[in-house]
Amino acid sequence: MQSNKKNIVILGSTGSIGTNAVKIALEQNELFNVVGLVARNSIESLAKQARELNCKTVITTDSNKYDELKSFAPDNCEVLKGAQAVRELVLCEDVDLVLCAIIGTGGLLPVIDALQAGKTVALASKEVMVMAGELVIAAAREGGGQLIPVDSEHSAIFQCLEGNKDSELNRIILTSSGGAFRDSTQAEIATASYEDALAHPTWDMGAKVTVDSASMMNKALEVVEAGYLFDLPPEKIDVLIHREAIIHSMVEFVDACVLAQMSEPDMCFPIQYAMLYPKRIANSMKALNLAECGTLSFSKPDRKKFPALDFAYEALRQGGTMPAVMNAANEVAVERFRKGEIAFPQIWAIIDRVMKLHNTETQKDIATVLKADAWARKTALNKELTSNIEHRTSNVERRTSNVE
Ligand code: MG
Repeated sequence: MQSNKKNIVILGSTGSIGTNAVKIALEQNELFNVVGLVARNSIESLAKQARELNCKTVITTDSNKYDELKSFAPDNCEVLKGAQAVRELVLCEDVDLVLCAIIGTGGLLPVIDALQAGKTVALASKEVMVMAGELVIAAAREGGGQLIPVDSEHSAIFQCLEGNKDSELNRIILTSSGGAFRDSTQAEIATASYEDALAHPTWDMGAKVTVDSASMMNKALEVVEAGYLFDLPPEKIDVLIHREAIIHSMVEFVDACVLAQMSEPDMCFPIQYAMLYPKRIANSMKALNLAECGTLSFSKPDRKKFPALDFAYEALRQGGTMPAVMNAANEVAVERFRKGEIAFPQIWAIIDRVMKLHNTETQKDIATVLKADAWARKTALNKELTSNIEHRTSNVERRTSNVE
């Protein structure tokens, strides 16, 4: 039986992006057939999604949650566990599209597998591109798979590039809302709590991304992601603070003309675009009303207050294992900040220190990347390293705040 529906697998279906993807699949159920759902936690929600979507396979990546999932999942649904089951799921012959929205590094292997098998991957997990961008692009090239970005900035660039020649591209301009601390002083940032970092002014996202947004590490990860996705050197990637978050990014061509992509700040737009690509269809989302917006503002990022972009340009310049190291050090530092072990500015200090200690290797295979990732995590956890940093950071802060 031929069906015009896209068969889709959603990795990370209970997270912020995954939940929206499920919502879109339900709303547009004449276009999508969700054949597999994967989540780590939120087992009851996962089972509920499987029931609503009449999904035939559900997987928890946490083996300890298997029995719980088995008890909640619908009877006609196959219940599996573990990373290997996810890799097998994305390779199923009837799968057309893999939406990867797993937080952290769990998406790496299934994404590479899917691209190598010639599947289309809608990629929301920026860690995948940051850690192993060279390998991901190589897998797509070899296997004929297509990558469609879900990150709003990259979706914007992807949309602006449609129908234009790569050779005519001059630079891309990633926009950033500036995060929770965009108007904070250095002294305020130094004493900021986890709750302060979670108060994002514009976007409604998961906790880790929101903290990354406050440190501008989210933008740093996106600079690297863009570098690999669009095959651009650091000097062709700019960042602009745009607090209204209406323009999601821009592309400047060689003739100095700029295209921008705009919409209300809602992740459903890039998710729907990626799920439906290359089609556009009407939806129930709020249309953009620029008269209501009034003013759109732009400014340069404050690189002294937010050193995150420096790390991104350096990581992209070095390539190889350095972006994975930057990402891993950041993840550990954010977790240490969440636990109250370190002050907010130490997130940057830890990343800086770990990157400086790393000897970059080429991205020859996944094992090399994972080894660098593990090394960076261990190094970022080292308490001795941070006690040195504590001292240093407070000196730096005192110096810089005297300047201002
Ligand atoms: Mg983004």
